[in-house]
Amino acid sequence: MTTFTRREILAAFLGVPFALAACRRSAAPAFPEGEIVGTSDVFGHRLRDGLKVDVPSDAWTNVPVVIVGGGVAGLTAAWRLQKSGFDDFALIEIENAPGGTSRSGTNRVASFPWGAHYIPTPMKENVALLSLLDEMGVVEGKDADGEPVIREQFLCRDPEERVFYKGRWYEGLYLHAGATDEDRQQLDKFNAETARWISWRDGRGRRAFTLPVSACSDDAEVTELDRISMDQWLNERGLYSPRLRWWIDYACRDDYGMTLDQTSAWAGLFYFCSRVTKPGVESQSLITWPEGNGRLVNHLFEKSKARVQLDRAVVELIPSETGVDVITVDREGRDPRGFRARRVIFAAPQFMARYVIRPYRDNPPPHVAEFQFGSWMVANLTLRNRPKQSPRDFPLAWDNVFYESPSLGYVVATHQRGRDHGPTVLTYYYPLCDENPRTARTRLLETDWRGWADVALADIERAHPDIRELVERLDVMRWGHAMIRPRTGFMWGQARREGAKPFRSIHFAHSELSGVALFEEAFDVGLRVADEVLKLI
Ligand SMILES: Cc1cc2nc3c(=O)[nH]c(=O)nc-3n(C[C@H](O)[C@H](O)[C@H](O)COP(=O)(O)OP(=O)(O)OC[C@H]3O[C@@H](n4cnc5c(N)ncnc54)[C@H](O)[C@@H]3O)c2cc1C
Repeated sequence: MTTFTRREILAAFLGVPFALAACRRSAAPAFPEGEIVGTSDVFGHRLRDGLKVDVPSDAWTNVPVVIVGGGVAGLTAAWRLQKSGFDDFALIEIENAPGGTSRSGTNRVASFPWGAHYIPTPMKENVALLSLLDEMGVVEGKDADGEPVIREQFLCRDPEERVFYKGRWYEGLYLHAGATDEDRQQLDKFNAETARWISWRDGRGRRAFTLPVSACSDDAEVTELDRISMDQWLNERGLYSPRLRWWIDYACRDDYGMTLDQTSAWAGLFYFCSRVTKPGVESQSLITWPEGNGRLVNHLFEKSKARVQLDRAVVELIPSETGVDVITVDREGRDPRGFRARRVIFAAPQFMARYVIRPYRDNPPPHVAEFQFGSWMVANLTLRNRPKQSPRDFPLAWDNVFYESPSLGYVVATHQRGRDHGPTVLTYYYPLCDENPRTARTRLLETDWRGWADVALADIERAHPDIRELVERLDVMRWGHAMIRPRTGFMWGQARREGAKPFRSIHFAHSELSGVALFEEAFDVGLRVADEVLKLI
């Protein structure tokens, strides 16, 4: 592995001028304790290199359904099977905890997310998701329009967001301070464009953009937006205001890990339009917990845990006359066990299918390579106290964003608990938005704990110079395959349609099939595929 200097790492991830200034300030800064946690890269690489496993004849079990992957999609499929009175399945998850990219952690200070951290309040049409939230005690009732009313403790507490710009914190994410008349007009023009799409309906009464994607209109007037990038869409409308473009770019980086010029205009508009019931009203309120969507994961897991095997990887799926032979091993690659299943729900990503499904190994179908994933680094910083702040600053919010950084800033785990003083955990997010996802993955994995800890601390130091004195632990998660990339042409291209078709008795159910990495999508596909399998079993 190549070794990089401090300056090279900071320059690569935070820019050259920033790196030079940081290194001038301190050549040997302090570091807290911490480590790299999570995902099974090493195992994934062994799989890619063609791990060979023989299962002894006495280590086979017959089970009608095997679910591969205990992320939100796999856990949702399990939830649906059980709710339908079908309990005869096994769910195999490679990691030692369920949840995939929505998993969470906990320490003596707080629970905190390692990935997904919120969902917007579902609209009344998303009956299935509302029934899950109801089961969790999140829904209080309905308003006069039939829209759900969420119990106050689950709605993101104020202040929700703030942005740090040139030495000062401001309210919200769009930077209003210093905006010119031209900036304001361009913001209004953008809002008018999104309002048009929010009220748009196709001949069947479907919205252009709603959650989940499967309920969106497939009318050509909407889907043609997928042919151009969000950047081009803005250019075509003369929307060049830097702060408007920053705000939209931030949204694309935040939801998709991609920049404006990489993101499909369909996906860019989806972000702004799918969470608003009608023009002129606010976006749906955010539902969150200290551990983020880990709360949803834990609820789903609680229901199915007797059927879940953690720390076990599916290494091969061999379609047979009667169904599918499922070969598994433990995380060390030992203790081979097999399942003879009639149906498999494959709730892991397509890149995994390519190594695991035997006929795909030599001859992967072309759509598999079209599913591209971005890389993210997430750091959880445990602080013994809050950073100092000036009275002129907008106060600490749930989501705290740096305007001048390629990171997304941090969310505060204790915010939802109403604890505004003392120890806390900050979850820092850094999407690697390289054009080539492989380059991003290499950069992600070549940077060790110290490198990433330094990036997080140096970046946060721009707003909180005392952060290194306050942090007592900093752990890092490197997500090599974090989020599906809704790049131009992918949302309404052939690959998504092909990827959703079963291969023999293997049914695919990962959020990637929707084109956007969201809880609602993992949940939707998990339900859909469970129902598909229930009909056949
Ligand atoms: C940093 C980050 C922030 C995010 N923030 C949000 C957010 O705020 N809100 C939101 O809605 N979404 C967010 N997301 C998106 C999130 O990915 C989705 O919400 C959802 O969790 C995806 O679930 P999934 O089940 O489709 O996929 P995954 O999470 O990818 O789950 C797949 C599972 O399969 C397992 N697996 C893979 N291969 C094998 C194998 N061979 N054998 C056994 N198991 C296997 C994996 O370990 C994993 O558990 C975020 C994602 C990331 C990375």
